[in-house]
Amino acid sequence: MKKNINIAFDGPAACGKSTAAKAAAKALGFLYVDTGAMYRAVAWLSIQRGIDSSDAESLASLAENNPVTLIPDWTISKGYRVVIDGNDITSEITSKEVNSIVSAVAAVSGVRRVLAGQQRDMAAEGGIVMAGRDITTVVMPDAELKIYLDASVDVRARRRYLEEKELGRDVSLDEIKKRLEQRDRIDSERTDSPLMVAHDAVVINSDDMTPVDVLNEVVRLAGERALR
Ligand code: C5P
Repeated sequence: MKKNINIAFDGPAACGKSTAAKAAAKALGFLYVDTGAMYRAVAWLSIQRGIDSSDAESLASLAENNPVTLIPDWTISKGYRVVIDGNDITSEITSKEVNSIVSAVAAVSGVRRVLAGQQRDMAAEGGIVMAGRDITTVVMPDAELKIYLDASVDVRARRRYLEEKELGRDVSLDEIKKRLEQRDRIDSERTDSPLMVAHDAVVINSDDMTPVDVLNEVVRLAGERALR
C-alpha cells in the first residue's frame, strides 16, 4: 500500500526542477530524489576509472556494480549527499568534467535500465518527489502529480551563470548557454527514454515566476491530487 502520493518532475537542464522539487519535498515532508545526481555519480566514477563515454558495455556494468546512495541532508543546499564506491562526491558531481560527459553516459540504455530500476524501487511506497528527464514518462508514469517544468534557454543560462558565480567559478554566460543547449539536444534526441512532455503532465513555464511562485503552484496541485 502506498503511504502517500508521488510527485514526478521533468524538464530541461537548469530549469529549476531541483529547486522546486526540493522545496516541495521539504514543505510536504516527502523524500526528495534527484535522479540527475545518480547519472552524475556514474559519470564521475567513469572518469575515475578511465572509461570512455562511448564504451556502453563498461558503463552499464559500472552502474550495475556501483549503486549510488543519496543520503537526505537538509543541512546542505542540495538537500542530499551523494556516495558512490565509498566516496562522498556531493561537491564534485556538478564539475565541468562531469557536466561535459553526463548526457552521453545517460544515453546508454544499460545505465538507464539499472538506475531507473533503483528509482522505481524508491518510489514504491509513495511520498516521493523525484526529478529528472524520464520520471513522468518512464520511471513513474503513474505518479499522481506529473510536472514538466520549463523555462527559456536564456533564462536558464542566466540563472545557472549566477549560481556558478556564487560558487566562485570562472564562467562565461555564452559558454553556459551553449553547453545547456548541447545537453538538452542529447537528452531530447536519444532513443532510450528521451526528454519529452508526458501527455498528462502539467506544464509550468517559470520564465516569469520566482522559486516561491513555482513552489506555491506545486503545493496547490499536490493538495488537489491528494484529495482525489
Ligand atoms: O538534472 P541534471 O542536470 O543534474 O541531470 C544531469 C544529466 O543526467 C542530464 O543532462 C541527463 O543527461 C541525465 N539524466 C537523465 N535522466 C534523468 C535524470 C538525468 O538522462 N532522469
